[in-house]
Amino acid sequence: MTDLERELAGRMARVQEEVAETARNCGRNPGDVTIVAVSKIHPAESIRALHASGQVDFGENYVQEALGKQETLADLDLRWHFIGGLQSNKAKFVAGQFALVHSVDSLKLAKMLDKKASELGVVQDILVQVNIAHEEQKSGIYEDNLFEMAEEVAGLENLHLVGLMTMPPFFDEPERARPVFARLRELRDSLEPRLDMKLPHLSMGMTGDFVPAVEEGATLVRIGTRIFGPRPYKK
Ligand SMILES: *Cc1c(COP(=O)(O)O)cnc(C)c1O
Repeated sequence: MTDLERELAGRMARVQEEVAETARNCGRNPGDVTIVAVSKIHPAESIRALHASGQVDFGENYVQEALGKQETLADLDLRWHFIGGLQSNKAKFVAGQFALVHSVDSLKLAKMLDKKASELGVVQDILVQVNIAHEEQKSGIYEDNLFEMAEEVAGLENLHLVGLMTMPPFFDEPERARPVFARLRELRDSLEPRLDMKLPHLSMGMTGDFVPAVEEGATLVRIGTRIFGPRPYKK
């Protein structure tokens, strides 16, 4: 075991234990919460080192960076998550390359992903990203437009809508993010009967706020800094 493998395995084990304990304390099954290790800006070698301890779910934000790492790590069996802002003109590089795209925030983007997925003959799993706090600088659809968009997305043949994702405003106190997480769950619960389909996944919670997110029903938590340490500056 290298020093890096040992360090990352130790950090990962502590995060897993905290997530599991939070789940158990609120009556949830720890197995229902997947930790996505957010590796953006960290080198491929960090992913390889963490994978050595059994982690397979990794989250990336930038298309070129992610595709480069996928190539470098093609010998590993990884589940890649695309979690970053995505312009529709880059959708063609993303469809079929990621197990789950968390950040679908417009019908235009959904249609581009669907088109490419159709060309590839695959069905792409996606989440719709909701901007609950109406922050202008953040991506995500406003909840007023969610039902209409989700209905159209659900009708696209090569996309499979499996849930919702959100990113709360930055709060220094994690409890303040709780109402945002609770709202995402409510939106999911009200969408399911209206669309007549199951939306099993809620992607919410990061390093600073995964505890309330798990308590409010997260099935995917996206954790970077707690696992990999501070991110190097992006070149
Ligand atoms: C960077 C990022 C994360 C991880 O953030 P940390 O605070 O480092 O855990 C999670 N989700 C998204 C969408 C991100 O961009």
